Amino acid sequence: MEKIKGKNTVNCEICLHNSKTRPMFKHEGKNICIECLNALKFPRNFEEMKNEVMDYLDELRIRNNKYNCILGFSGGKDSVVALYLLVKELRIRPLCVTVDNGYLAEEALTNCKNVAKYFGVDWLVINKDFTKFFKETISKGESPCRVCSDMNMHELWQFARQTNIDTIVTGHELPFGTTAIRGMKKGINMLRLLVAYKLTEEDRYNILKEIPWEKPDLGGYTTNCLVLAPALVEFKKKHGFSFEYDRVSAMIRYGLMTREEAEEALKCPEVSDEIYEELKKRGLDFKNLKE
Ligand SMILES: [Zn+2]
Repeated sequence: MEKIKGKNTVNCEICLHNSKTRPMFKHEGKNICIECLNALKFPRNFEEMKNEVMDYLDELRIRNNKYNCILGFSGGKDSVVALYLLVKELRIRPLCVTVDNGYLAEEALTNCKNVAKYFGVDWLVINKDFTKFFKETISKGESPCRVCSDMNMHELWQFARQTNIDTIVTGHELPFGTTAIRGMKKGINMLRLLVAYKLTEEDRYNILKEIPWEKPDLGGYTTNCLVLAPALVEFKKKHGFSFEYDRVSAMIRYGLMTREEAEEALKCPEVSDEIYEELKKRGLDFKNLKE
């Protein structure tokens, strides 16, 4: 294995990275990036992660409480698929909890309502206002996603503490390194259910066909968030690439997305005037940033 040097841009033959975004290596005749090389050298054992998740859920299921877990339920496609798996395949009783940060699309809340009703599960909404945070990050061309996700998890964690439910299931699809379960503070665990299933985009949309869930058009690939598309636009203007690059590259690396799907996901979205109007109504005015 040798490091590739030189002026010409070399593309990773597995994911979307190239010699500008990551160090590149020659490995068994192929050009691959450092992250793909590490994934090959230290492969994630999805079978083992699945067993770990199933053992954990076996213990939850036999407990005699009303709710086995909280499900972080955003109305987006992944959390809806997670609910389907919990109820239909795993016989787990979740309490669905939506953290509405003020920028969930109306359609996403309608999806939450319809889907929760369809599965006969309880659903509640925690209302928060992330306006200030979004205004600051997006206007500077930063990605709000990671911190927003952490703030959401914090709300769910607090709720878990208050209700004495010790497990928060989410629809995240990538493992924490080599595990799907991570301990949070005060004995509460976060479980990324989809890691155990290795579902492709196509698998997920096939599950969704059975459910009263409708895909909203919010610009780009998001199925619940109003700020993602404008945030991608501002970030692209400043940095020239998508802030989803790393996550999407990891999806290819683990076989969860095809290259074509990934390239599609990384295209800078068209944001309609309706979305900018809706954001303005809710307190975020990006019209002046649009040009
Ligand atoms: Zn790569």
